Amino acid sequence: MNKKDYYEVLGLSKSATQDEIKSAYRRLAKKYHPDISKEENAEEKFKEVQEAYAVLSDENKRKQYDQFGHAAFDQMNGAGGYGGGFSGFGGFDDVDIGDIFGSMFGSSFGFGGGGRNTSRRERGSDTILRMHLSFEEAIFGCEKDIKIDVTEECEDCDGKGGHGEKTCPDCHGSGTITQEQRTILGSFLTKTTCTTCNGKGKVYERTCSSCRGKGTVKKTKTLSIKVPSGVDTGNQLRVAGKGNAGRNGGPNGDLYIEFTVDKHPFYERDEDDIIIEVPLTLTEAILGCKKEIPTLYGNVKVNIPAGTQTGDKQRLRGKGIDNASARRKGDMYIVMKVVIPERLSRDQKKLIETLAKTDLEDATIRKFNQFVEKN
Ligand SMILES: [Zn+2]
Ligand SMILES: [Zn+2]
Repeated sequence: MNKKDYYEVLGLSKSATQDEIKSAYRRLAKKYHPDISKEENAEEKFKEVQEAYAVLSDENKRKQYDQFGHAAFDQMNGAGGYGGGFSGFGGFDDVDIGDIFGSMFGSSFGFGGGGRNTSRRERGSDTILRMHLSFEEAIFGCEKDIKIDVTEECEDCDGKGGHGEKTCPDCHGSGTITQEQRTILGSFLTKTTCTTCNGKGKVYERTCSSCRGKGTVKKTKTLSIKVPSGVDTGNQLRVAGKGNAGRNGGPNGDLYIEFTVDKHPFYERDEDDIIIEVPLTLTEAILGCKKEIPTLYGNVKVNIPAGTQTGDKQRLRGKGIDNASARRKGDMYIVMKVVIPERLSRDQKKLIETLAKTDLEDATIRKFNQFVEKN
């Protein structure tokens, strides 16, 4: 395989200063970091950038490279890496490179033992999805299909990201690489997570083409959700294990479904009770009647007594919401509203005028009138 020129990798000329090399490295390492990059072959490019920087940032290695090209290092390391050759750098402090680079890139950067490329099991995060329900769907429960994007372990490589597993040639299976880094503070012998194998100690002969080496694939899945009866706006339903995928074999997060429920034109809801306003004509209220009342479970005939007033209430036991999460069924309340006609025919008006000549005063009205007289 033909290796790219290190200067070309960093986009620099042969006369680049150390400052230019460092700033090109910082920019490109950010751009291609496998944890954050969306570029194609980011991981490969990231490795190239790392390797180029390791050589060009070191004056001795740079000199060797300028003179002999890649051949300067091939003899040291059969795998074409830049390891080895540290014998002349004894006595450096063993500093975690994360300490130095942490300040350059921020803590999310994947250097050092605490980086994100370690093989630690990590639970996936929870996700939330909003679901809209009609009044009836919420009251009686329903089954609804939803589409969710899930990240699943790649079936073709069993989540490994590649085929033909072998021990990483750069770190010999340890997952870490000791190398010399020059910084403004001087030179340090540092331990970093091996970028060839991302700290796993293993590499693969072929990158899995189905998942492009990530070990996971994104899929849009249809999920059938059983909405229990009696849910209301703001209620959440937990669907275990359907959130985001975990890392390194960690469990999935959970999916939460939050409901928004439509209002009904006639029914009002008070927890598990249903309230309905029943309009009555003047004579229905005065004389009483049998009235058909619509409930959640069909119409029922209700006896309205003579002399019913606006605001009078009746309870229909057990005709409320049968909430799956409650012990008892709710009730239904019917609330009367006497509707005074705004327009009367001539005959109706005559009848009312005849009625007005009779004594319609009851105790309440009489008391009020006495108060008016005394006042
Ligand atoms: Zn390795
Ligand atoms: Zn795969």
